Amino acid sequence: MSTDTILALTVPMSLLAPLVAAAGACIGSFLNVVVWRLPREESLIFPGSHCPRCGASLAWFENLPVIGWLLLRGRCRHCHAPIAARYPLVELLCAGLWVAMLFARPAGMGTDPSPWLLLAAGWLLASWLLPLALIDLDSLWLPEPLCRWGLLLGLAITATLGFPQGGVVGRELLLSHLLAVAAGLLGFEALSALAEKAMGRPALGLGDAKLAALMGAWLGPVGLGLAVSLAVLGGAVLGGLGRLTGRLGRQQPFPFGPFLAAGALAVWIGGHGPWLRLWGLGL
Ligand SMILES: [Zn+2]
Repeated sequence: MSTDTILALTVPMSLLAPLVAAAGACIGSFLNVVVWRLPREESLIFPGSHCPRCGASLAWFENLPVIGWLLLRGRCRHCHAPIAARYPLVELLCAGLWVAMLFARPAGMGTDPSPWLLLAAGWLLASWLLPLALIDLDSLWLPEPLCRWGLLLGLAITATLGFPQGGVVGRELLLSHLLAVAAGLLGFEALSALAEKAMGRPALGLGDAKLAALMGAWLGPVGLGLAVSLAVLGGAVLGGLGRLTGRLGRQQPFPFGPFLAAGALAVWIGGHGPWLRLWGLGL
């Protein structure tokens, strides 16, 4: 039985989905803060949310995800500085990802993982990859601590989901996910060295290798391969379009992290089947 059927048996989906969307939007609101403050080395908790221009603190209703931005019509109440539409969009994206996790079919965690744990793991993965992708988008940088802790978390979750399915399953899952971590790290470092030799300048950041290692810990070897191939496809298409339309200069670097994160989420949510079929490898 798939996760969404088991969940639907316990709680009606019409009740669950709006609650999950609201929770996801609140997490998205916090992730906006993380994405702004982490690269600036500011505390994630103190002070509370404030306007970056005039410093005015936000009232509780202005902090409501999406609704707060709409109530303010996208401007600070005090200094009328515009508030980027990206904030409510990230909140909506996070809400959407959290709801999508209700229907996710991750294939890299054995044949019979606990559906509730799998759901919680999906929420955690989405909430971990979103800030990494956004920070890379802003500053072409994938923070090392986020990659490292995300990797360890992925291995801990693999063990937590694997061992209740039996000692053999648990050990096999953990070993294959560890191999995927090593493959992600070494594969990307080798690729980065090759690309640098071929193009005469750094083409892939080492942050991408760390993010690929994190993905290996969560997705296992097959999932990692599929996610990276989707990321390369997405990067080639969008990068090519960007160059053709002149929005991206010829030598201008662009972040690969968002593509990797999107590939990882596509593989977690869709499972392996649809993506294997996309490459003509499925049954
Ligand atoms: Zn202001």
